[in-house]
Amino acid sequence: MSNHPSVRFAPSPTGYIHIGNLRTALFNWIFAKERAEGTFILRYDDTDRERSRDEYAQAIREDLEWLGIRPDIVVRQSDRLALYDAATERLKAAGLLYPCYETQEELERRRSRMIARGGSRVYGREALKLTDVDRERFEAEGRRPHWRFLLPNFENDSFAPRRTDVAWTDLVLGEETVDLSSLSDPVLVREDGTYVYTLASVVDDGEMGITHIIRGGDHITNTGVQIALFRALGYAVPAFGHHNILTTVDGEGLSKRSGALSLRSLRDDGIQPMAVASLSVLTGTASAIEAMPDLASLGEKLALDSVSASASKFDPAELERLSAEIVHGLAPDAVREELIGFGVPEAEIEAFWLAVRANCTRVRDAEGWRRVVFGERDAAEFSEEDRGFLATAFDLLPPEPWDAGTWKVWTDRVKAATGRKGKTLFMPLRLALTGLDQGPELAQLLPLIGRARASVRRP
Ligand code: GLU
Repeated sequence: MSNHPSVRFAPSPTGYIHIGNLRTALFNWIFAKERAEGTFILRYDDTDRERSRDEYAQAIREDLEWLGIRPDIVVRQSDRLALYDAATERLKAAGLLYPCYETQEELERRRSRMIARGGSRVYGREALKLTDVDRERFEAEGRRPHWRFLLPNFENDSFAPRRTDVAWTDLVLGEETVDLSSLSDPVLVREDGTYVYTLASVVDDGEMGITHIIRGGDHITNTGVQIALFRALGYAVPAFGHHNILTTVDGEGLSKRSGALSLRSLRDDGIQPMAVASLSVLTGTASAIEAMPDLASLGEKLALDSVSASASKFDPAELERLSAEIVHGLAPDAVREELIGFGVPEAEIEAFWLAVRANCTRVRDAEGWRRVVFGERDAAEFSEEDRGFLATAFDLLPPEPWDAGTWKVWTDRVKAATGRKGKTLFMPLRLALTGLDQGPELAQLLPLIGRARASVRRP
């Protein structure tokens, strides 16, 4: 086996992935690809055929691509059923998977009775006591079994479970244990023969040689069960890391189904991908939240063992701030296509973008500045006095060619001719030229506007 890590991101294609899902994807990506020459697998956890959709699977890929995550391998669990069949046969043969016939209601009733008596909520393995005759009777009634994994939490008598700690050194949390006697034997195969995530995930991780499983802290209990399952199936047990879960400032969790803060909606909203990546990774870590320019530098900020253990709140408004910070530093080449799409003349892309970027929260804000510079600006209202001032000023417009020095040459002349200075000098000029009382440096805008357009902006 090579020493390169192999990781997987295993979303269920039941909705658009959100910034919390992205945290998991990026922790894995950074671990395996930015820091090592590892393999990143995208594995659709689509054993729930009812809720899984191809369009979501496709969207997840596109959304990851938007962030710069390009999986080395893409698989779907629904294509791998034969492997799960084989694994369950192995477990059955070893006596570790047993059929159960209780309905949900029967289980509920039994659990309530146990709790009322001060007993445990854990499944008492009643189905293990069924005889062949019992099972035949159930089958004759039309019942189909679901199958539970016999957790290794007893010595000789499966009805006398005892404390059995499964331990691992978590990449994030350090020493972790789960006591298998505190858990019910998990159902691995449903009544309709479909496989539960718990099993499918372990079989895939085992078969694909996954070396590190990095996922949300909501899976810690699963990890106890899954380690037992890795061992029962004879697979090497991977390393585990459980990161804290992101919630919004009001403590709300994120859900794929609600679509809240989905990567798709953020992209449509014009938020920069690295703003989303930076917030999703750096929230609840030892590093301050700042907009990192690329995944490699973001990766340098992340120390898995310094990620805090508790849920981590983030403020979606931060996205806007981080995104604007990134936009202000984008090079002209990064926005060239978009600006051409807005109708910015190709020859002017560079000068235009450098002039306006500090006034853009989103790249698309440049479209408004395109109109101001190259199109029709909104006309402003002026007092009689300002009109007189502007008439003099526009008469003094210097001849072309214009460059970054033209604004100073012009305003020096206007100042000398009218005696105005400071705001009373500059504001009417800005208003006349752009229709707005604030915006990019006029020294940069003026040569882009050019003499012909400037002249007709005389009020
Ligand atoms: N589909 C599961 C989830 O998104 C995968 C968990 C895992 O990584 O094992 O939570």
